[in-house]
Amino acid sequence: MKNFKLPMVALATSLLIFSCQNKDSEDLNEVIPQETATIKAEEAFPALSGTTETLYYGTSKMNVEKVNDMYVLDGDILFDANQLTQSPSEVGAPSPIETLGRSVGRTGGRWRNNTVHYSIESSLANQRRVTDAIAHWERNTALRFVPRTNQSDYIYFRTGSGCSSFVGRRGGRQDINLATGCTTGNTIHEIGHAVGLWHEQSRKDRDTYVNINFENIVDGRSFNFQTYVQQGNDGNEYTSALDFGSIMMYGPTFFSKNGKATIEKKDGSSYTVQRDGLSAGDIQGINRMYPPSTSGVNCNGVAAYVNGRSYAIGSRVIFQGSLYERVSGGWNNLGVCGTAPSTDICSGVAAYVSGRSYAVGSRVTFQGSLYERVSGGWNNLGSCGS
Ligand SMILES: [Zn+2]
Repeated sequence: MKNFKLPMVALATSLLIFSCQNKDSEDLNEVIPQETATIKAEEAFPALSGTTETLYYGTSKMNVEKVNDMYVLDGDILFDANQLTQSPSEVGAPSPIETLGRSVGRTGGRWRNNTVHYSIESSLANQRRVTDAIAHWERNTALRFVPRTNQSDYIYFRTGSGCSSFVGRRGGRQDINLATGCTTGNTIHEIGHAVGLWHEQSRKDRDTYVNINFENIVDGRSFNFQTYVQQGNDGNEYTSALDFGSIMMYGPTFFSKNGKATIEKKDGSSYTVQRDGLSAGDIQGINRMYPPSTSGVNCNGVAAYVNGRSYAIGSRVIFQGSLYERVSGGWNNLGVCGTAPSTDICSGVAAYVSGRSYAVGSRVTFQGSLYERVSGGWNNLGSCGS
């Protein structure tokens, strides 16, 4: 939940030493390769192709496809025209609407109190898809989906030309569009976007695990295969490795123009894509984004936000009962202030030792945060004491 960049720099020396050594020991081949042609890419407008434009979300530059009056990222991720600007725009105060409304990879744009309000368009066909998908999320995560009464922020499941969603809580009504062909599994996937997940192959470390075969991608769709970093979005990884079984993972031939693989494993083999339900890795990541504990985050000693004051990146403030951290391009909502949780995630974890070699999966404490060694870097798992 914290910015990943500063500790990365501090730990860079050791990373250079052993990032190559661990490559051979990574276990990436648990999935038996097989054809999964029946599962199609989620697309907002399958019958239409738009024009690619470079626009800004806050200070972040991103390539999006314009179709009708909507902007589409990665095929099924929606942005409103009024969310994007022609030039970088400054970031204002943290507010429910201004707070990284686009959400990010696997961070930011959170729903408060693990609660998502929603309503369903009365004319939407096969509403069982929605209720089954919601039941699946509630069975497997700490998120709760509550029918909206008068809440201002909510998901609206409606009929659309494809399957699509915004990423993260954006403030106000946000649509999940479902064409008749969108399955319960597709709906689980779109809810994943709405609660803050990017596509799994958008991870910034994905090149460790997969080859992207750009020569096989439909013309004009290459930007669907960029990492969230390349797309100009900030984010974080909440699991230690790319999860081929993630419901947020593209299939091997998604957006292929010639039937050949657009994504393959590093060794050139294929993999299985699924839209049955959340994977163990999906659940692990969501549990870090939406911890099952309801005790809230520790806001002790943090000052209230002051309107008009300039805040450096890394600054923390309290605003409307929630803890916010200033990140590049906005404010990251770290959660509702509450009593300090009883368990410290750093309990029993040794401090990082400069120059020591750490295997993937090792955990250390460093500058008050818990880190896990992942391929190619360290994953910040959060602040000690939380
Ligand atoms: Zn998607």
